[in-house]
Amino acid sequence: MVLQDLGRRINAAVSDLTRSQNLDEKAFDGMVKEICNALLEADVNVKLVSTLRKSIKNTVNFKDLPPAVNKKRLIQKAVFDELVKLVDPHAEPFKPKKGKPNVIMFVGLQGSGKTTTCTKLARWYQTRGFKSCLVCADTFRAGAFDQLKQNATKAKIPYFGSLTSTDPALVAAEGVAKFKKERFEIIIVDTSGRHRQEKDLFDEMTQIQRAITPDQTIMVLDATIGQQAEAQSKAFKETADFGSIIITKTDGHASGGGAISAVAATHTPIVFIGTGEHMLDLERFQPQPFVSKMLGMGDMQGLVEHVQALKLDQKDTMKHIAEGVFTVRDLRDQLQNIMKMGPLSKMAGMIPGLNQMMGGMDDEEGSMKMKRMIYICDSMTNKELDSDGKIFVEQPSRMTRVARGSGTSVREVEELLSQQKVMAGMAKKMGGMGKNMARAQQQM
Ligand code: GDP
Repeated sequence: MVLQDLGRRINAAVSDLTRSQNLDEKAFDGMVKEICNALLEADVNVKLVSTLRKSIKNTVNFKDLPPAVNKKRLIQKAVFDELVKLVDPHAEPFKPKKGKPNVIMFVGLQGSGKTTTCTKLARWYQTRGFKSCLVCADTFRAGAFDQLKQNATKAKIPYFGSLTSTDPALVAAEGVAKFKKERFEIIIVDTSGRHRQEKDLFDEMTQIQRAITPDQTIMVLDATIGQQAEAQSKAFKETADFGSIIITKTDGHASGGGAISAVAATHTPIVFIGTGEHMLDLERFQPQPFVSKMLGMGDMQGLVEHVQALKLDQKDTMKHIAEGVFTVRDLRDQLQNIMKMGPLSKMAGMIPGLNQMMGGMDDEEGSMKMKRMIYICDSMTNKELDSDGKIFVEQPSRMTRVARGSGTSVREVEELLSQQKVMAGMAKKMGGMGKNMARAQQQM
C-alpha cells in the first residue's frame, strides 16, 4: 500500500539524518522538508502538513538544545509524535455495550465499500462474542439488498431487507425493531449512497437517522478519493453527524493522505481500515500502532488481536508479552502463525523490523524467507528456543551448528536473532500489555 511507501520515505529521511556525521540545523531542515514533501505527495492536506512542520521544528529547537541532549532520539520521537497527532482526533471511538442493542448506521457514497464493510464489521463483532446482524435500508439501488444478502449469507450473519418497499426509513425501522426484539447486540444498518440529487440522498439519511436513532453513525470513506475527502466528509458531517470513520481500500494504490485529512477536518476518529476485498480484511485503527506500522516499527497489538480473532494457537506468547518477555520460540510460533494468516506482505508490517528485512520481496520470496527462519528455529535445542537469544552471543559456535543443521547460513541465523532481539525489546517496553489487552477485550 502506498501509505507504506510514505512510511518508508519518512523513515529514510529520519535515518539519513540521524546517521549523518553532520547533524546540524541545515540537515535537520532538509529532513523536515523531505517529510513534508512525502506527506503532500500522499495527498495530506497542505494546512496539516504546515502545522506538522512547525510543531516538529518547535519541539526540536536546535538553538536551545543543550549539547548533552540525545538529538537523534529527540528527532525520532518528535516525528513519530507529530504523525500520531495527524491521525489522532482526540475523540474517543464508540464502544458498543454487551447485553444491549447497539444500532450502527453506515453512510457514504456509493462505491466507497459500504456494503462490504457492513458485513466485515458485523463479522468482526460476531467473532468477538456480539450477536450481530445486518439491515439493508438501500431501496434506491436495485440489487443492493441482493448484494447484502449474499455477503451476509457467506459470513453467516442474519439480515433483513425488502425487495419491494420504496421507503428506506420504514425498512430500517422495521429491521431494527425486529432485531432488537430478538436481542441482537450489534445491528448494522446499510444505507443508500446515491440518489438522483445529492439533496435527496442527504434528506434520506436524515429520515433514516430519525427513524432508528442510531447509537453510532459511521461514515465510509474510500482511500482513493484523495483531496476530495475533506469536502465530502464535511458535507456528510453536516447532515449525518457521524461519530466514526472507516477508510476502505487502503490496500490499493491510493495515497490515503486525503482520507487521513478528513479526520482533522471533522474531528472524528477512524475506527477501522479496510485492507482488501475479503471478509477478514478489516483492521482496527489506532493512531500509535498505525504510525508505528507505517514507519515499519510493527504493530504488535494488531498482530496479537489478529491471531486472537483467527483463534490460532498462540502458545505462551501472550503470557510472555504480558510479562515483558519474548523468546526465540515465541518468534518461531508467531512466524508459523503469520504463514497461516494470509498475504504475507500485509502481516509482515505488524512485526517490528520485519518489513524492512523483507523489503522489496514479493509474497513468494517473503514466505520462502520465513520458512528458512522456521527451519533455523527447528534446528535449535529447547534450551536455545526458550532463551532470550544471549546464549548465542556467549557461545557463537551454536550459530554455526544451527546454520549447518538447518541448511542456512550463519548470516541468516544472526538475522533471525536480531529480529528476536527487536521484538524482545518491544515486549519489554510493553510489559503488561497482554494483561491490559485481555482486560480491554473483556470490556468491549
Ligand atoms: P458500496 O456501494 O459503498 O456499498 O460499495 P461496495 O461494498 O459494493 O464496494 C465497492 C467495491 O469496493 C467492491 O468491489 C468491493 O469489493 C470493494 N472494496 C470494499 N472495501 C475494500 C477494501 O478495503 N479493499 C479493496 N481492495 N476493495 C474493497
